[in-house]
Amino acid sequence: MVTENLEEVEEKIQAACNRSGRKREEVTLIAVSKTKPVSMIKEAYGAGIRVFGENKVQELTEKYDQLPSDIQWQMIGHLQRNKVKYIIDKAELIHSVDSLRLLETIDREAAKKQLKAKVLLEVNMAREDTKFGLMPEEVMKFIDKVPEYPHVLLEGLMTIAPNTEDPETNRQFFCALRKLSVDIADKNIDNIHMGVLSMGMTNDYEVAIEEGATMVRVGTGIFGKRNYALDKNTR
Ligand SMILES: *Cc1c(COP(=O)(O)O)cnc(C)c1O
Repeated sequence: MVTENLEEVEEKIQAACNRSGRKREEVTLIAVSKTKPVSMIKEAYGAGIRVFGENKVQELTEKYDQLPSDIQWQMIGHLQRNKVKYIIDKAELIHSVDSLRLLETIDREAAKKQLKAKVLLEVNMAREDTKFGLMPEEVMKFIDKVPEYPHVLLEGLMTIAPNTEDPETNRQFFCALRKLSVDIADKNIDNIHMGVLSMGMTNDYEVAIEEGATMVRVGTGIFGKRNYALDKNTR
């Protein structure tokens, strides 16, 4: 099932790239494997997928230990400061930075391991109470502080758009996130590069690609529905 689903997702990504005059290589598909067993991840791996997203620290580290080392693990879920140390050298990219305190912790743990942690800033574009992320108007103030944390590289922005029937209603949020990243890039700050726009999930990744996404995070579309009874923290 996973292999067939991947073929369908791949076709849709390609079509969205064609529609918007973009190259397929500009878009990384992140297979969001949260709550799903190692066996399904292995099937996706067999089909060529190397980038996987998880939203919980413990699940990420457990799967990290059981699966091939050429997988790039992405931390896409809300991250508590006391857990940063467990993933600092395991997550290739942390998508969910939403406070200076978290950034400070990431910087400190990265320094201990003598590495530079790649992160994205999560922005709550639709201003939903239920979501994490900075409000759009808070972003520039945050950006000005990033140079104080030399062991982090801010690679771009991430947003989780509303869960909606009609993906077109999310286009405005994707478009606004891209504009925000252009404004930030214009500031030419040392440890900030705005190459990554992580936006779009199963329901709306095609629209997100049309609006400039460089990473789409697709779970259900690849692995099928998640069992919410087993995982209350997942939306
Ligand atoms: C679960 C999750 C996804 C994937 O959601 P689907 O709708 O299953 O594609 C993407 N991003 C984040 C941050 C998630 O937590």
